[in-house]
Amino acid sequence: MKMDNKYHRSLMDKIRYCSHCEIRLEMKEDEKPVPYTVRSEYWPTGMRQVVFVGESPGENEVREGRPFCGRSGLLLKDWLNYLDINNITITNVVKCRPRRNRSATKKEAEPCINMFLKPELITINPKVVVAIGSIAARALTGLYGPNHRMKDMVGKLYDNILTGEEDNVYVLYHPSWLLRKGVQPGTIPTWFFPHLVKLKEHFGVVGIRDI
Ligand code: SF4
Repeated sequence: MKMDNKYHRSLMDKIRYCSHCEIRLEMKEDEKPVPYTVRSEYWPTGMRQVVFVGESPGENEVREGRPFCGRSGLLLKDWLNYLDINNITITNVVKCRPRRNRSATKKEAEPCINMFLKPELITINPKVVVAIGSIAARALTGLYGPNHRMKDMVGKLYDNILTGEEDNVYVLYHPSWLLRKGVQPGTIPTWFFPHLVKLKEHFGVVGIRDI
């Protein structure tokens, strides 16, 4: 399937120039909303993408205009190298950076999800959406209760509340959480490795012609 470049360009432009909510007003002049990054120009026939969804762009990201280009991105790169996939898209629940690294409120995140994340996922139609961190896990599964803390959700598959696809969301810790635990880029801790192995097993079928 050839990617609909025109549609993606227009969606990315809408993100770049969006000023719909107050998070945008909190940003400095040299910071800008961060559109998603598609790592492959074409989808090979019959293959479906894997989309990685984080929380919101960080300091480096809003300056460079690319998701996951800071230290968190280095860890994510290690994971992608292990997973050995290129056919991916990287994005965030919220495209602007809330001031002082706060998390966007549910009320702030909802319009961004509806205007951008949801259409991204519907258009891309990924085989797997990897929710990295609790904000992404909640936004993609709609599960906010006390039984759905990160330690309960990591390494499991959930239905995608935005697209309606069953067993489509796989939850992982956010790389910034691993960095805070002292994990250095270039290393994958042994306790984290099984979560990547499981993910690889799951999207191993991505290479099979399944649409
Ligand atoms: S956070 Fe989303 S909705 Fe708010 S201004 Fe940025 S792109 Fe627009």
